[in-house]
Amino acid sequence: MNGPPAGEPGMSETEFEIIRRYFVREVPARRDVIAGIGDDAAILQVPAGRELVVCMDTLVAGVHFSAATSAAAIGHKALAVNLSDLAAMGAEPAWATLSLTMPEDDPDWLGRFAQGFFSLADDYRVQLVGGDIARGPLAVTVQAHGFVPAGRVTRRRGARPGDRIYVTGTLGDAGLALQRPEGVAAAVRQRLDFPQPRIRAGLVLRDHASAAIDVSDGLLADLGHLLEADALGANLEVDRLPRSAAFRASLTDRNPLFYDLPLGAGDDYELCFTVPGARCAAMEAALAGVACGCTRIGVIEAAAGIRCHRQDGSTYHTAVSGYQHFR
Ligand code: ADP
Ligand code: MG
Repeated sequence: MNGPPAGEPGMSETEFEIIRRYFVREVPARRDVIAGIGDDAAILQVPAGRELVVCMDTLVAGVHFSAATSAAAIGHKALAVNLSDLAAMGAEPAWATLSLTMPEDDPDWLGRFAQGFFSLADDYRVQLVGGDIARGPLAVTVQAHGFVPAGRVTRRRGARPGDRIYVTGTLGDAGLALQRPEGVAAAVRQRLDFPQPRIRAGLVLRDHASAAIDVSDGLLADLGHLLEADALGANLEVDRLPRSAAFRASLTDRNPLFYDLPLGAGDDYELCFTVPGARCAAMEAALAGVACGCTRIGVIEAAAGIRCHRQDGSTYHTAVSGYQHFR
């Protein structure tokens, strides 16, 4: 723990009190956790025949969320963005670790942060098994761990020309909420603050998808990464991009944002994936049982680059590209 030297005043509660009060829980522990919070390190048992899938993401105040974002949303989202990465790989979530850097130990903030974090963790039986606390500018790092039967993980690479391109759920809501901080429907704001990782879809897609990625930086950027992995290209039908009812109520198709938010805005945390033509019907039938559903939006092509077209066959020109931290 990176606390002040002994003898100097630290946070008003000791770090140990904070951990005990907010992060150690009464709920039944997972059986694959031999030792969780409380020792120098966690001891974890990966089930036989499974591979361990590990990812990490950081949310920084002022970069990934604003001063207006609630503590519950920060707790939820810090875990959700990691579970979204596990979903893209087809992993079943199991454990998480949490590194929390904060300027002060505000009990009200900590209580709501923990509530947001654990309500999502409990949805997927994720156990918090360790972490760290330090004083500093507000930043939250979560590492998530999940399992996949050996050799069955879904990767970014693996798509082939002719494979159909799909996305789960709807795109552009989080982007719309960022664009209009005051004036959007609660359902749209919810998409930005409380993204739902597509874990169940990811587990189904293990049997069908040739490749997958989660949409964190925007469809064009993230599909771009998937395509780069195999030096492929894509043709997208921009009129088919799935948009929520609230999104369609806010923007008409005469507004360029109607296309450019689903194409370019990040933070939706849907899955973008490819399926060989012969498997599409089976995949769609299997995903019919998963609430988020999916929409076919295009096709993989051998020629590099992403080409967008309208329903009438005309080319759609977009100026958008995905979010990048260092540009
Ligand atoms: P060390 O001093 O060895 O770094 P710590 O005192 O930081 O260990 O942590 C003590 C225990 O509390 C460890 O099991 C650690 O994983 C856990 N822990 C610390 N911070 C958090 C946190 N934010 N959430 C969950 N567990 C935590
Ligand atoms: Mg130690």
